Amino acid sequence: SDGGGWVELREPEVVVEEPSGPQPVVAVVGRPNVGKSTLVNRIIGRRQAVVEDVPGVTRDRVPYDAQWNGRAFTVVDTGGWEPDAKDRAAAIAAQAETAVVTADVVLFVVDAMVGSTDVDEAAVKMLRRSAKPVILVANKADNNSIEMEATSLWSLGLGEPFPVSALHGRGSGDLLDAILAALPEAPTILENRPRGPRRVALVGRPNVGKSSLLNRFSGEERAVVDSVAGTTVDPVDSLVEIGGQTWQLVDTAGLRKRVGKASGTEYYASLRTAGAIEAAEVAVVLLDSSEPISEQDQRILSMVTESGRALVIAFNKWDLVDADRRYYLDKEIDRELRRIPWAIRLNLSAMTGRAVDKLAPALNKALASWETRVRTAHLNQWLTALVQATPHPVRGGRAPRILFATQAGVAPPRFVLFTTGPLDAGYQRFVERKLREEFGYEGSPIEISVRPRK
Ligand code: GDP
Ligand code: GDP
Repeated sequence: SDGGGWVELREPEVVVEEPSGPQPVVAVVGRPNVGKSTLVNRIIGRRQAVVEDVPGVTRDRVPYDAQWNGRAFTVVDTGGWEPDAKDRAAAIAAQAETAVVTADVVLFVVDAMVGSTDVDEAAVKMLRRSAKPVILVANKADNNSIEMEATSLWSLGLGEPFPVSALHGRGSGDLLDAILAALPEAPTILENRPRGPRRVALVGRPNVGKSSLLNRFSGEERAVVDSVAGTTVDPVDSLVEIGGQTWQLVDTAGLRKRVGKASGTEYYASLRTAGAIEAAEVAVVLLDSSEPISEQDQRILSMVTESGRALVIAFNKWDLVDADRRYYLDKEIDRELRRIPWAIRLNLSAMTGRAVDKLAPALNKALASWETRVRTAHLNQWLTALVQATPHPVRGGRAPRILFATQAGVAPPRFVLFTTGPLDAGYQRFVERKLREEFGYEGSPIEISVRPRK
């Protein structure tokens, strides 16, 4: 060791958990009163959906989070039909269409006590055109004899009917198994990220003060060794204590030994920076406040946002900033960092120690944003109000509608908007801005994708 005070552990094992992909959607379709709401309640496992006592009362399309055997999906209750719909066939078509637009799997619910009706048969026609997987649910099969009768529902041509009693729970496990089997390949839920220190990349172009900042945290090596015994850390990483918390600083070997600067080409340095960012959860991008924000600084910032990592921008060498420089720096920030207003900014000095104590809180805040999950119901309440207040602008006589949204994953937060058509880029930016206003995400990028009707 060169006496830098870094802890090196041998085993090169760092688990980088991949955030989950889009959550699959299951739509529940069927005549009024067949038990769709009751079934949704059963699937989500809590009394969250509202069961209307009035047959045929219109409900909004309400999505709910559900999971079974460690797989997460979204259940959408496609609602009832207008109580006095003039044109029943049109109402069925609209409901089925919504299901088809949005769903990966459709649950078609029939009342097993009643058997199939001509309305059911009309709905089946619509569904079969969709080519989406349809699971036939024979609900209200409360006992064996109704369950036997339910076999007659083969005649609908949707394959095997699944007899269930949404009310009593009978058969619901088998149905959930069938749903999982029909879902597209789905990612597993990442409830628990691997325990251990959070991974931080300390990056920036040469001479911005990375080694100097690192040296600030070097005195606390002993505490670190004791508290994380058994943790596996890549030998090029350092474990340091910042703000009373242990952090894994990714790929600091070059900084510590100060070889990167002496021998590395810019190309090599940039590869190394990219690698560190990839391996990290949050990046601290150091800028030299005494110099203009450069293209190289911009490239490093882009690497962070493009890799979807949380971001703290540290304006180092703040001790060199006078009123004059401050004036120009503010202008540069407005101009150069316009794309990333959400990044957390710190004005610090590795030399004097100014604001260095703000680093740990900033990292924690950015990571919390990065891992924020919004409940689907909450997200959609907010979204419904938003699109009502500010609908998509009309283009050529029509405007795409946003049907609903789900959060597809975390780290960073990713959202899928289910729509009736492509959205204007401007409107999508508007939604993102409003999403940030509502839910924060300070220090984290967020991603929004649009799934329009095919
Ligand atoms: P929806 O209009 O299709 O959403 O139907 P609801 O979920 O509102 O249910 C309509 C009625 O059927 C309610 O009175 C429910 O209690 C009843 N119901 C739902 N599932 C079952 C079931 O499995 N067995 C029986 N016996 N009744 C049920
Ligand atoms: P690195 O290449 O990013 O690791 O940068 P270094 O840590 O080697 O720092 C480059 C130069 O900037 C050295 O001469 C440091 O002493 C100086 N430096 C680092 N941090 C500060 C700071 O906060 N204020 C001032 N005035 N100089 C600093």
